[in-house]
Amino acid sequence: MPMPNDSHMTGLIEPQVNIWRRLHGYYQRRSASFLFRRPLVINAQRPLISFTFDDFPRSALHTGGAILNRSGLAGTYYACLGLMGGETATGKLFNADDLKILIDRGHELGCHTYSHCHSWVPTRGHMKNP
Ligand SMILES: [Zn+2]
Repeated sequence: MPMPNDSHMTGLIEPQVNIWRRLHGYYQRRSASFLFRRPLVINAQRPLISFTFDDFPRSALHTGGAILNRSGLAGTYYACLGLMGGETATGKLFNADDLKILIDRGHELGCHTYSHCHSWVPTRGHMKNP
């Protein structure tokens, strides 16, 4: 859905556009949860917890993952390969060797797109050839 003023938006967002963006985001979230649901019934006898790491720094695997493994647990690491080897405020991000290590240690590797794009924005061609 085209959004007004998108082509010239830079810097501050005008209040009217901000309201439009918020409504647009609300519509996207609501329609996605309505259209793309895959309900799953889990009859757990006790509470469940999932440990997930998004765009994970190396410490999430080598420190956090080690803590999980010591307790017989594993985590899920969502990796955006376009960010591999980078550095953020949380530290150095994962590298190629870390991906093999996390699998070897029983963790799960999740895909997080290559370029970390918002799934609503790109065209079909962008998703095929980022
Ligand atoms: Zn992310």
